[in-house]
Amino acid sequence: MFDVIIVGSGPAGLSAAVYARRAGLSALVLEKNAMSGGQVLTTYEVDNYLGLPGIGGMELGTKFHEHAAGLGAEFTTGIVRAIEKTEAGFKIITTKKEWEAESVILAPGASHAMLNVPGEERLTGRGVSYCATCDGAFYRGKRVAVAGGGDVAVEDAIFLSRFVEKVILIHRRDTLRAAKSLQEQLFALPNVEILWDSVVTEIQGENRVEKITVRHLKQDSTEEISVDGIFIAVGIHPDTAFVEGLVPMDEQGYLIAGEDGVTQTPGIFAAGDARTKKLRQIITAVADGANAAISVQEYLNHDR
Ligand code: NAP
Repeated sequence: MFDVIIVGSGPAGLSAAVYARRAGLSALVLEKNAMSGGQVLTTYEVDNYLGLPGIGGMELGTKFHEHAAGLGAEFTTGIVRAIEKTEAGFKIITTKKEWEAESVILAPGASHAMLNVPGEERLTGRGVSYCATCDGAFYRGKRVAVAGGGDVAVEDAIFLSRFVEKVILIHRRDTLRAAKSLQEQLFALPNVEILWDSVVTEIQGENRVEKITVRHLKQDSTEEISVDGIFIAVGIHPDTAFVEGLVPMDEQGYLIAGEDGVTQTPGIFAAGDARTKKLRQIITAVADGANAAISVQEYLNHDR
């Protein structure tokens, strides 16, 4: 029986583990696989985490893990299937084992969204990718498309431009959502072409991606473009299905909680990208983890 079980080992979960351990609580971190860091792991370079400009995502994830483990947080792998209320607290049922805790911090993060166009699912892993830092190296000297206009799409385009022949960024509007500093870097790159007001409507290829169909919304025209791969970065959705019915969420599936991480289910707290909030960044996830752990401490001391 742990004082707190933390679901997720991204920045929010690991920060929660650090603060929980410093508050003297026994803490178990449940991670999907034996690599901590969450979405940070798929970031080539992190440029906006205070004090560590330019740090690699993998290195930052490792540092977060070492910090939490060094303070005595325990780690185990397993995908959470369900959480049940018990007399003493909660039972957390994973694909591998069942665990018990007096409280739970949900920090499951979010996964990539899909474009939902013909060819996408069939060619995933065969030219369709959702992770430029994972798969980019396979496209040295090739032509690739990136779909999206947020931080991830622009970061991916910048990263890929370093070794591909050409990047075609396809965005559905005429302005990018990404941070201005990223936009400036992008606009300065000679091998990046941006197709504004355009959407990918189909991904084609027999065994691998060969071309994409792009609809130009303003001209009301369609074009086929030959590419060797397409990186899809059209947003994220929270990984919260496993607590549906237990923890109230908004219509998009984000766990409803304020900055203190307190959800409407006593004993369950939310932190990180899966929480309703304005700014989803590593630094705000880390802040969430700290707040949630302190809320757990207060709950265990007073509110039970
Ligand atoms: P995002 O900010 O939600 O951007 C998604 C982009 O995809 C938007 O440009 C959106 O267009 C476009 N899009 C959405 N659905 C589409 C569709 N069906 N077809 C075509 N385009 C579509 O998502 P993200 O870039 O994955 O970032 C996720 C979160 O992580 C954000 O909060 C982001 O700020 C944060 N993040 C921050 C950093 C950083 O600070 N360095 C790095 C990575 C991630 P519209 O613009 O028209 O809506």
